[in-house]
Parts: sequence; C-alpha cells; structure tokens
Amino acid sequence: MYFRLLSLCFLLAAGLPAHGWGFWAHQRINRLAIFTLPPEMIVLYKANIEYITNHAVDPDMRRYAVDDEAGRHFMDLDRYGSFPFDSLPRRWKDAVARYSEDSLRTHGMVPYQLPMAVYQLKEAFERKDLQAIMDISADMGHYVGDAHVPLHTTSNYNGQFTGQKGIHGFWESRIPELFGEKWNFFVGRCYYINDIYAESWQAVLESHLQVDSVLGIEKQLSKDFPADRKYGYESRNQVVMRVYSREYTEAYNKALDGMVERRMRASIRRIGSYWYTAWKMAGSPDLSELAKQQLSDRPQRMEVKLKIFDRESQDIGAMMLRPGADMCCGNHSGAALAMGWQTMDCARQSSSDLSENAAPGFWKSLQNQLLSWWNSVWH
Ligand SMILES: [Zn+2]
Ligand SMILES: [Zn+2]
Repeated sequence: MYFRLLSLCFLLAAGLPAHGWGFWAHQRINRLAIFTLPPEMIVLYKANIEYITNHAVDPDMRRYAVDDEAGRHFMDLDRYGSFPFDSLPRRWKDAVARYSEDSLRTHGMVPYQLPMAVYQLKEAFERKDLQAIMDISADMGHYVGDAHVPLHTTSNYNGQFTGQKGIHGFWESRIPELFGEKWNFFVGRCYYINDIYAESWQAVLESHLQVDSVLGIEKQLSKDFPADRKYGYESRNQVVMRVYSREYTEAYNKALDGMVERRMRASIRRIGSYWYTAWKMAGSPDLSELAKQQLSDRPQRMEVKLKIFDRESQDIGAMMLRPGADMCCGNHSGAALAMGWQTMDCARQSSSDLSENAAPGFWKSLQNQLLSWWNSVWH
C-alpha cells in the first residue's frame, strides 16, 4: 500500500505540466533561443543544446527544495497599485528597502531575478566556467520564459478569484502542447539590451497587459460553449485524467488570436538577447575552446523539505484523480524529482487508494517507472 501510494504521487507529479510554461514549452523556448545567437556564441550553445533543453525546468524542480526559489518565477503586480506600477522600484535593492525581502519573495520577484541572472552569467563568461555558463543560461531561460506568461504577473494566477480555476495550466501548458508544433518560431536575431532592468520590466508589463484578455476571453467562452463539451479525458502515463477538451482548447486559442504563440516567440528572442548581452558585458570572450569541453551533468540530488503547498497545485488533473491531492502532490512534471522525497510523507497521510480505477498493468508499470526514476536519482 505504501509503495502504491508513493508511486501514485510520483506519477501525479510526473504526468502533469510544469510551472511557468509547461514542460514542453520551457524546453522548446530554451532550445530555440540558441538559434538567435551570433556565430561566436552559437558554437558553444549548439554544442550543449541538449543540456540547455533538458535543464529548462530545473528551476521548477528546485521550487520544492529551495526556500527562496518559488518567488523567482512570478510577481503579483496587482498588489502594487495599477499599471504601469510606477511606485514599484525597478531595482531589487530599492524594492527590498521599501517592501522587505521576505514580502517580495512571497509575492514574487521575477523582474528582479532577470538582471541578477545576467550578472551571474557575465561573471561565468569572464571565468570561462562552462558548467556555470550552461547552468545559468538554462535557468535564465526558464525565468525569462515565466516573465512572459500573463498569469505569472497577477495574484489571480489561476483564476481562483474569478471562478476560473485551472486556467493557468490551460493557457501556458495545454495550448502550447496541443498546437505549439505548428507555430512559427523563427524569431530573428538576438539584440543587445542596453538597459537590462528596463527590459525585464518591459517583459512583465507586456505580460500584465494581457491578463484581462486571458481571463475575460475564457470567461466569455465558457458562457458560450456547451458545458458538457468543455472537458474531456486523456490518458497520461497510463493515468486517466480530466483535461480541457481539445475542442474547447482550440476555441480558446482561436479567441486569443495567437497570444500564446506571440508570448512564446517573445520569450525566445529575449532569452537569446539576455545571453548575448551577458556575453558582451563580459567583453565578448572567445568561446571556441570552451565548446570542446565536456559538461558533467548537473548534480540533481537535493535535500528536499516538505513544502507541499504550491501556488499552482490545484489545477485540473490532480484534483480529478484524487480529491485533496493538492495536499500531497503538485501537478508539475518538473517537480517530479523533488516530489519523490515529499511523497514519503504524503503517502503516510493519504487515505485514498485508487486501485479500483486502475487499468490492468497500471501498478506494475508505475512500479517500473518509479524504480527507474529512483535508480537514476540515487546512482
Ligand atoms: Zn517557473
Ligand atoms: Zn505557470
């Protein structure tokens, strides 16, 4: 029983979208950003393209392990008055003096995180530290991507105040996963960013301007759309889950008129531009020798604290599978690694057993997946 529940929790965590852009989108965004880079840089980034892709969701994994991580992915701008939030200091130091670090970390700080990452990357370029360059670049790609998601800039991040719970993953994961393969991601070249602070704020302010449309359009659509066709069921990792139906997703995407694609494209170009700017700030070092070096994989073992509540953990999917699952399992694939530890505790707390709903071979397959995951973590 213990093992079963543990497995179930793992799978719940594994099968569902990641934070910020979903798993699919974060990986695409990081990967495609490489193709905006000039030849002097692409030589290094292309040699490490799989690394940059695979580590696009590491910051989401860390959310469950590192106390300070969560706030780096969003900012509840609406706490600070109204657009363009002129009273909100644009620099981290000034903001801390005004609102305290604790408060900023709680209510989000993504626009402050981006310039910090640029300076870290600049220093890594100066040291010619391949590992640091790639790790910081991959992480930065994630944060820049998150800054482009409108619902990452509002306290109503999952439509919880407007009766639209689930809209977060609907916009940022479901739409790109269903339609992203067909989008146009030729975004052109990166550019030099003269003011990395202003650029970061521009990214989140652009996102914030879309919040009303993201919510309003879905609200209207859900009124016009036949209620019984709004949701469907899909099997993920052999678990049947309730999802927004393809038809409803298509209608929403159409009504948004390319917004998700545009935000993804903007993320891609800006990531390349931040990488490029950090490299320029470091004096445009020659990277051709570094490109021949081998990266070791990033150490993944983390001491995980039991931090089971998460802003986005109440999305459709986890709820459906196990009422109260938000007590135990997040819905983010990126968190799977860290979740393994957490689930030990949640398994003990859990009282439900879904075995009667399971397809034949369900538990066996779960077990195998869990074991291979376990092995990869511990060996
Ligand atoms: Zn994120
Ligand atoms: Zn998100």
